[in-house]
Amino acid sequence: MELIDTHCHLTFQDLAGDVEQVLQRSKAACVTSWITVGTDLQENLKAIELTQQFDNLYAAVGIHPHDAKQVTAQTIGQLKKQAQNQRVVAIGETGLDYHYDFSKRTDQRRVFAQHLKITAELNLPVIIHCRKAFDETMDILEQFGGDVKKVVFHCFSGSAEQAKIVLDRGFYISFTGVVTFKNARLKQQAAKIVPLDRLMLETDCPYMSPEPMRKQKVNEPALMLHTAKFIAQLKGMDVNTFAQAVTAASKTFFNLS
Ligand SMILES: [Zn+2]
Repeated sequence: MELIDTHCHLTFQDLAGDVEQVLQRSKAACVTSWITVGTDLQENLKAIELTQQFDNLYAAVGIHPHDAKQVTAQTIGQLKKQAQNQRVVAIGETGLDYHYDFSKRTDQRRVFAQHLKITAELNLPVIIHCRKAFDETMDILEQFGGDVKKVVFHCFSGSAEQAKIVLDRGFYISFTGVVTFKNARLKQQAAKIVPLDRLMLETDCPYMSPEPMRKQKVNEPALMLHTAKFIAQLKGMDVNTFAQAVTAASKTFFNLS
């Protein structure tokens, strides 16, 4: 069995000092490829540098909606340059976060649209962070219509109805360990209806370890196996068959060989 952690933050402080061991443990738990996701220009650079050190490690570059207020035209120019590195497989994470509102919503919308413009220009997939902003996120994506085709809603936190809307647009849905939590019934209902060729897995580590490892403060890619087993069981499937399908979906989405 091989799984791909499609969204982790290996450059964040809790993991950065120990990446070699973290990836060893990950491989031992069948999670054999990774996409480390940048959240600002500096993290993007660290992510790209890290990909030079390990096989099967790729990067995504973006500015998190939390930091939208600091983004200038120059930032976007630099981001576009970073995105052209060979090891970069996606733009993101980008989107809207109306839960924390760390940046003004007008800034968040502007920066999200700027990311989508780069996504279209470079013909890359895009990783969406969306919290309490579902309708507006879909509206902005709609404005880019056919120019932005490969879209994944990362750490999906919506309902089955919202999942249907995402799927109807041809987009993908990615689940973190949060889906394993006891209070995550809505997300579990959503996971049940997502077809395997549109479903991806991620840890979003160092955050949010899945059950039954929730007490482990620093999440890491090795723990994604628990999430895989959990969703396979939700769908009444054997985990090997499940893993094969979602890994194939992830490779197609991110153009991995
Ligand atoms: Zn993330």
